[in-house]
Amino acid sequence: MKTFQCSSCSNKVFFESTICVSCQRALGFHPETRTVVALEPQGGNGAFRKVERKPDARANDLLKYCANARHGVCNWLTSESDATGFCRACALNGTIPNLTEPGNLAAWRDLEQAKKRLVYSLLRFGLPFSEGNLPKGPLVFNFERNSGTGHLDGVITIDVTEADAVERERQRQHFQEPYRSLLGHLRHESGHFYWMLLVEAAGKHKLKRYRDVFGDEREDYRAALARHHAQGPAAEWQARHVSAYASAHPWEDWAETWAHYLHMVDALDTAEATGMEPRAAGFKFGAMWTFKPSNVYRDVSFAKLMDRWVPLTIAMNNLSRSMGHDDFYPFVISAVVEEKLAFVHRCICDKSV
Ligand SMILES: [Zn+2]
Ligand SMILES: [Zn+2]
Ligand SMILES: [Zn+2]
Repeated sequence: MKTFQCSSCSNKVFFESTICVSCQRALGFHPETRTVVALEPQGGNGAFRKVERKPDARANDLLKYCANARHGVCNWLTSESDATGFCRACALNGTIPNLTEPGNLAAWRDLEQAKKRLVYSLLRFGLPFSEGNLPKGPLVFNFERNSGTGHLDGVITIDVTEADAVERERQRQHFQEPYRSLLGHLRHESGHFYWMLLVEAAGKHKLKRYRDVFGDEREDYRAALARHHAQGPAAEWQARHVSAYASAHPWEDWAETWAHYLHMVDALDTAEATGMEPRAAGFKFGAMWTFKPSNVYRDVSFAKLMDRWVPLTIAMNNLSRSMGHDDFYPFVISAVVEEKLAFVHRCICDKSV
């Protein structure tokens, strides 16, 4: 993710910021420009004008906060004239948690933050998710308690209990996972949606290529998951899959690989934006300087992406260990998994929906 600055005073601010601690102006995330903007009330009806150091006369549309801002779960902006009242990300919500139940508001806040990061990445990739002419979808999020987590025809259901850090850690240990997070869940489930869009709906050739790389998804899905839960992962799954769960079924393999690819791109983007990455990758300034800033969401080959990713993860793991934490990146990428990640990369580049 890019770094953000207050459009009024240039103070560094966060993706989630609602107020600038330097100039005290209200802040909101503007999805169209993917910037955090400072706001000035206009007319007293909850409408705001964007405050900029160099005002752009063309960009004088009035804005308002998403309707979910009143619950403290969203800082995204929408046009003042938008009738739904919801931002682009909250407009995707089908069910929100029952806010009269204790703990649900805090859980929803965490879920929204994770979802916003996912939607930010989708916007950066230019991937469609709610456009009217999609062959599948649109993407919908249901946040429900004790519902189980999963995907069906574009509808992503996330069990609100996943937002409980203690419960999530218990599940992580139970399933012997090295990594479990809300953002990971959301990225994984979005993978099932984009499989339908970028692979299944993209024609026979794409589907055949997918089967060559990931296996045949026509294998009985329920039976495969039952087998995985009863007997554990496939033997030596590390050689062929990014995670143990990915070995359960070719659909899960794709979704796990997809999520992993999104982790990589977002983390690389952040590392580049914060100036960490060239040093982590061992580049030297001056004559040896070969690093050119780039948009890792759009114009980087997969080989280049991997070249940059591996040194960064080693540096980050060392940093984590210096703080006494577990590894930042508890994964090993085999050659087969690299090929699977490259396939996801190509699907996103093609966007053949
Ligand atoms: Zn400011
Ligand atoms: Zn919103
Ligand atoms: Zn799945």
